[in-house]
Amino acid sequence: MAIRTTPAAADQNMLPADPIVVAADVRKRFGSNEVLKGIDLRVPKGEVLCIIGPSGSGKSTFLRCINQLERIDGGAIWVAGELVGYRREGNFLYELTDAEIARQRRRIGMVFQRFNLFPHLTALENIIEGPVQVLGEKPAEARERAEALLARVGLADKRDAYPAHLSGGQQQRVAIARALAMRPELLLFDEPTSALDPELVGEVLGVMRDLAGTGMTMIVVTHELGFAREVSNRVAFMDQGQLVEIGDARQVLSDPQQARTRAFISAVH
Ligand code: ADP
Ligand code: MG
Repeated sequence: MAIRTTPAAADQNMLPADPIVVAADVRKRFGSNEVLKGIDLRVPKGEVLCIIGPSGSGKSTFLRCINQLERIDGGAIWVAGELVGYRREGNFLYELTDAEIARQRRRIGMVFQRFNLFPHLTALENIIEGPVQVLGEKPAEARERAEALLARVGLADKRDAYPAHLSGGQQQRVAIARALAMRPELLLFDEPTSALDPELVGEVLGVMRDLAGTGMTMIVVTHELGFAREVSNRVAFMDQGQLVEIGDARQVLSDPQQARTRAFISAVH
């Protein structure tokens, strides 16, 4: 088993469960392309953080690293107090096994730009699949919760519909319900409305707004600056693999301190 020590990780192995996410000097490269150049971030429990920034700046890669869809090359990430990808024994860090990684990943829900529903399953079946197969919930119990979740995203009447018969907005709302069914401690959204026709964006943002009101910890990569302003606590601006600016949502969006943030925001508007 590979052994790797990261100084930051060794020092901070036992962090309290609050904040939910801690990133310390996170680095990621694809070949010679350094995509994340030392990201530092703390996300307290219950926070809604929006990440904005130009295409190619590393936003998706950062979310994927938090969720272990990518491996980081340097630094460390903790989710709910657990070091991501490693287990500590004495002075050594051991890489987690696939099964241990799967267990860690279960604590995080992720909603992608494309809805990624199983096409051969109904809305309800899509939602109960994870709880039954992965969490070992009783089917009847999972079904009852799935119905409640469908009602919560305004789709109680679509429980038996297949994805192909749902609009993009409805599919995305099912995808959110499916993520919630796994009882995540953290939800990551990667441009959840970017693939939608404009008239369908509002219904998905509405569900996300309701969710934010429940105290769910959310990191949302989005170009919807109106949503960022109204719903998020903080906004982070990312450019060329760095968090250029982070702060109170209204302040960052209305009065950015960095020239790069200002240029981006005025271009998006
Ligand atoms: P954003 O989400 O901000 O648009 P990404 O995180 O998708 O940015 O991409 C950041 C950079 O990393 C881009 O230059 C992209 O081409 C590169 N990249 C992302 N994923 C891969 C990959 N799997 N292999 C190689 N390069 C990648
Ligand atoms: Mg992206």
